[in-house]
Amino acid sequence: MQNNTQQKINIFPDKDGFFGSYGGVFLDENLKKEFKKIADAFLELKDDANFNEELNYLLKHYVDRPSALYHAKNLSAKYGADIFLKREDLNHTGAHKINHSLGEALLAKRLGKTKIIAETGAGQHGVATATAAALMGLECDIYMGEVDIQKEKPNVDKMKILGANVISVQSGKRTLKEAVDEAFSAYLKEYDTAIYAIGSVVGPHPFPMIVEHFQSVIGKEARKQFLELTNTLPDSIVACVGGGSNAIGLFDAFLEDLQVKIYGVEPLGRGIKTGDNAASLTYGTDGIIHGFRCKLLQDENGNPANAYSIASGLDYPGVGPKHCYLQSIGRANYVTVSDEDAMQAFFELSRTEGIIPALESAHAIAFAIKYAKENQNTKILVNLSGRGDKDVDFVMEHMKKNN
Ligand SMILES: *Cc1c(COP(=O)(O)O)cnc(C)c1O
Repeated sequence: MQNNTQQKINIFPDKDGFFGSYGGVFLDENLKKEFKKIADAFLELKDDANFNEELNYLLKHYVDRPSALYHAKNLSAKYGADIFLKREDLNHTGAHKINHSLGEALLAKRLGKTKIIAETGAGQHGVATATAAALMGLECDIYMGEVDIQKEKPNVDKMKILGANVISVQSGKRTLKEAVDEAFSAYLKEYDTAIYAIGSVVGPHPFPMIVEHFQSVIGKEARKQFLELTNTLPDSIVACVGGGSNAIGLFDAFLEDLQVKIYGVEPLGRGIKTGDNAASLTYGTDGIIHGFRCKLLQDENGNPANAYSIASGLDYPGVGPKHCYLQSIGRANYVTVSDEDAMQAFFELSRTEGIIPALESAHAIAFAIKYAKENQNTKILVNLSGRGDKDVDFVMEHMKKNN
C-alpha cells in the first residue's frame, strides 16, 4: 500500500498495549498490575540519561557495537544486485539477542529485582540472558523443555557455566511452548523479586514494546551506516521472522521511508500443511497465545498448532503484534522460505563470502538471493541476525542423512 496520508507508522502501542487490534494483555488481574508497573518503569527509564549512558557503554564495549555494515561483493556480483549485511552475528554471544537481554537485565536492576526468569527453546535466548545476568550479578532461572535440553547440549552447558539454573520442563511436548507456560507460572509466584525476560517481541504488553526498543539499535545504526556508505537508502530491507525481534529492530528506522520496501521472511519448513511450518503471518489467523493477540497458527480446535522449522529459533506458532499491524496496513510484506532453500543459502553465504550464518538468518539470505535475481541493480539490506557456529553439528548430520 502506498500511503499518501500523513499517518504515523512507527508507532508505540497504545496504553493498553495494542498495535491496531494486536497485542494487549490477556492475563489475570494480579499479573496485569505487575506488568503495568514494569511498563511505567520502562517508559520512564528509556529516556533516563543515566540508564542510557550505562546501556550505551555496554553496547559499545561489551557487545562490540556498532556492528559492521558489510557490502557482500561476491554475492552481489553473482546475483546482480547489491547485497549489504548488517552483521549482528559479530556481537558478543553471536546474535542480536544480547541487545535486549542486556536491556532487560539493566531494567531488572533498576527495578530492584534480584532474579531474572526466562524461557528458551534452542537455548540462544537462555545463553544471552545468562550472560547478562552474570554481568549484572543477578540470579537466573532458565526454563527449558526436556526435549530441547537433550538436543541443545552446548547451550545448556554454557548456561550452567555462566551460573544459571536450567530448569527442565516435563509437561506436554516438553519444548518451547511448555517452557513459556512454566516460566510464566514461576514468575507469577516470584514477581516481587524477579523480572520476566522474554526472548522476542512477543508476550503480553509491555514486553513486545521493551524488546523492540532495545533491538531498534540495529536499524538506527544500519540506516546511518547505509547512508554513509552509499549516499542513499536501500531499495529493500530483509530480515527473518520468528517472534520478530531482529526484524522489527531493523524495520523501525525505515518505516517512514515509504520508498524502502520491507520484507519479513517466515519459515516455510517442510511445507504449507499445519504442523510443517512456522509461518504465522502467512498462514495464521487471529488468536491469543501467552497473553497477547496475534496471527497464530491454530489447529482445528483453535489451540496453538505445533510449529516447525529447521531453524529452532524461528519455530513459534505466534508472532509479534507490531508485525501483525504492519502487515495489516500494508507497510511490510511477509514471505516464506523453505528448510531446503535456507540450507542452500547457509552454504552459499559460507562459500561466497566466508561467513557462516545462523540457520535462522539463512532464511533472510535465501530470500535476498531470490529477490536479487528478480530485481537486478537494486540495493538490498539484509539483517544477518546471528552466526552459524551453533548449527554446524546439525548441518553436518543433516547432510549425511540426505546423501
Ligand atoms: C532467536 C533468533 C532468531 C529469531 O528471533 P526473532 O525474535 O524473530 O529475531 C533469529 N536469528 C537468530 C540468530 C536467533 O538466535
